[in-house]
Amino acid sequence: MAPRPNGSGMASEGWRHAIGARKVSPPGPGPSLSMTLHLPTLLLTVVYVLILLGLLMLHAWWRSEGESTLGYMAGTLLVAAAGMLLGSLRGIGIDTLSIVLGNMLLQLSGGLGWTTSRVFAGRPAWWPGIMGGALLWGLLCLWPTFLASLPLRVAIANLLVILYSALGAWELWRVRASLTVSVAPALGMLVLHGTFYCLRLSFDRGASIGLRWSESGADFMAWMVLEAFLFANGIAFATLAMVRERAEQRYRAVAYRDPLTDIGNRRAFTSGGEVLLARCAAEGRPAALLLCDLDHFKRLNDTHGHAMGDAALVAFGRLLALGVRQQDICGRIGGEEFACLLPGADRTVSLQVAERIRQACSELSLEPGVRVSVSIGVASSEQAGYDLSRLLALSDQALYRAKANGRDRVECSAD
Ligand code: GH3
Ligand code: MG
Ligand code: MG
Repeated sequence: MAPRPNGSGMASEGWRHAIGARKVSPPGPGPSLSMTLHLPTLLLTVVYVLILLGLLMLHAWWRSEGESTLGYMAGTLLVAAAGMLLGSLRGIGIDTLSIVLGNMLLQLSGGLGWTTSRVFAGRPAWWPGIMGGALLWGLLCLWPTFLASLPLRVAIANLLVILYSALGAWELWRVRASLTVSVAPALGMLVLHGTFYCLRLSFDRGASIGLRWSESGADFMAWMVLEAFLFANGIAFATLAMVRERAEQRYRAVAYRDPLTDIGNRRAFTSGGEVLLARCAAEGRPAALLLCDLDHFKRLNDTHGHAMGDAALVAFGRLLALGVRQQDICGRIGGEEFACLLPGADRTVSLQVAERIRQACSELSLEPGVRVSVSIGVASSEQAGYDLSRLLALSDQALYRAKANGRDRVECSAD
């Protein structure tokens, strides 16, 4: 069996030994088919891809106006590129530097990778954790027995990679529910990465494992380079996808929220309302719509100033949001107009809820001497069916009557 070079980190023996070649020859006579995988070429390719992806992440970070997840991912990839390059330079007289510094850089990359998941999950970067693996490696290298023992170096390097992968996966596991599309692939890749290094821990202790990639003996090294190539590509694009999905969520939340009152806007109310009504129709449950309009709001603005008007809107929005059940939908659908959709509420219940809201509004204390009242029109599916625009039209008619009958009151569409 050919002597098999090995190393402690990602990158193993130097260019001198690291030649992986696999020849595939068809049986029988005829022209021989041969395929050669050249390990130094593979290594160079991985380093090139790591640098390219790292620069891509740097660019995305810069364009994202401070999405630190991308910054840490850029650091992870670029530091890994430096570590692999240094780690692969063994055999040209800088072995110690290569083993010590190359692997320290690879562990630093692991720490940055964990931090990428950590900051994505909303936690602050923790520098002792980022530097811990690299510092531990540096300290261990001061111990001559460690430096001289390939199996020991392989074991420690593997354990640190597994630890960092597990920590990164755990961070993503915590936020898996918030992103439905992109977290699972990133999580899966971290688990696969950790599993690969568990396999290496079990098999690659500086002894041949029988997994023959090359004829020159660089078997596990070639698997590692290949895995590094696949993992770097996968995790980089999965991270981009996670950041993008989160940004979409944020834009969507902004598009559906009223910035003044922080409750849903007309778009949110309409789209959520239609879904809710369809569900009520399917389940045969009633539903009711309350259309609320603050009374003499123009006068309030004119008398007490626009800021007081805004404060009244905020207070009424909060009153609505807190005053209804979680399954109800509320929204600010116009200047001083609000709407609430109550699934499961029949005419009697919806009138009670509307009366409670009217009462609570009349008790709002914005400032001594400043009072706000609201008129509410109610329409229920018993009269209007489950069509949102019809419910809105009928409740608007009821609201008109409430205004005509003196304001600060509730009217129902069937009355
Ligand atoms: P009514 O009792 O008949 O409903 O009278 P009203 O004065 O409440 O109704 P009108 O439609 O005449 O006036 C609504 C006012 O609400 C006019 C507008 O300036 C004010 N308004 C709309 N949006 C805002 C806002 O975001 N902030 C403030 N402060 N005022 C707003
Ligand atoms: Mg109005
Ligand atoms: Mg009004």
